[in-house]
Amino acid sequence: MYKLNKQFVSVALGLLMCQSAGAVTLEEATAIQRQLVTLDTHLDTPANLVVPGFDILERHSYGHDFSQVDVPRMQEGALDGGFWAIYSPQGELSKIGYEQSRDTALLRALAIRTMVTANPEIFEFATQASDAQEIKKNAKHIVYMSMENSYPLGTDISLLETFYKFGLRMTGPVHFKNNQFGDSSTDPDGPKWDGLSPLGEQLVVEANRLGIVLDGSHAHDETVKDMIRLSKTPIILSHTGSKAIYDHPRNVDDELLKMLAASGGVIQMNAYSEYLEALPADPERKEAFKGLMKLVKDGSDREIILEKRREIEHEHPAVKASFEVYMKHFLHALKVVGPEHVGIGADWDGGGGVDGMMDVVNLPMITQRLLDEGYSKEDLANIWGANALRVLQQAQDYAANVKAKK
Ligand SMILES: [Zn+2]
Repeated sequence: MYKLNKQFVSVALGLLMCQSAGAVTLEEATAIQRQLVTLDTHLDTPANLVVPGFDILERHSYGHDFSQVDVPRMQEGALDGGFWAIYSPQGELSKIGYEQSRDTALLRALAIRTMVTANPEIFEFATQASDAQEIKKNAKHIVYMSMENSYPLGTDISLLETFYKFGLRMTGPVHFKNNQFGDSSTDPDGPKWDGLSPLGEQLVVEANRLGIVLDGSHAHDETVKDMIRLSKTPIILSHTGSKAIYDHPRNVDDELLKMLAASGGVIQMNAYSEYLEALPADPERKEAFKGLMKLVKDGSDREIILEKRREIEHEHPAVKASFEVYMKHFLHALKVVGPEHVGIGADWDGGGGVDGMMDVVNLPMITQRLLDEGYSKEDLANIWGANALRVLQQAQDYAANVKAKK
């Protein structure tokens, strides 16, 4: 009897092992991810660089200061770098509004450059698509510069070249509202231009001439279509989701996804919970945040603001989408356009994060899940960076050709 039981146990164990033979452990996934060039195409982290007391070299925690990216956590989560964004909130379409935003954006560009120059052994600034691989070889973190919302350019398209000289290699025309360049996907007043404005069309031409990738995230579907049609090189959606999974204006439907892929473009999957599924409204939390905003506006001490925020998170915790829901968006896009047209742009430090993946430490969960789904290491290499770099390379090749013909 004892012998039989023992046999039974060993057979059962064998079966269990067979069943899990296909499953990849998180350690294995992390090891594989470390071999790849890993980029997130929308890091809002530069906003933290100008926060007094924030040190990118130190390990922070989301629970303490709500930041999601720093060097120790990038290393733990096997993230080499990405496109570090100059984000500008949408302001008034006036000369004074443009000028103020331009100055802030220039300072933000400087903050990104300073982060690199102050830490030459940790970071390296990238301007060419081919730089990423070299920088990884040197065991440093990769810093491309991007712009979220081209509003700070005002009506002076030539200013794009100034930012290009600063190192800008990707820009999106709009943010939450319509502006001088075109329609946003989320303007409460609805579309104003039915896509790109005439100035927005000039922005596309100038970005092409310089070799800057155009980013259709936040743009209205018609604006994205205009960008695909007008741009001489493929565009990117640096942080966007699948509308088939959740019908939100910040996501794109399958038809637009296919149009994007047919033109060579890529979608980078966003982990912004509110765009991933309908979450229950929490009026008390909203109200509490109003109080917090007042503290920010009054210029209160950062520690006081953080303490208040922690208090709110304790009393009215945020409801986040699950990691599974994030992967639903991801796997859907992969199913529709394939692994050569999908990447990662999780909106870190800009509102991104799902239950179980609230900072970059947990990024290998994505790799683990994609390997489990049967995607190959080559697919992973494309998804983690090669697709975005291909689009940048195409933008740069086009610009070089235009220059050579002159
Ligand atoms: Zn955004």
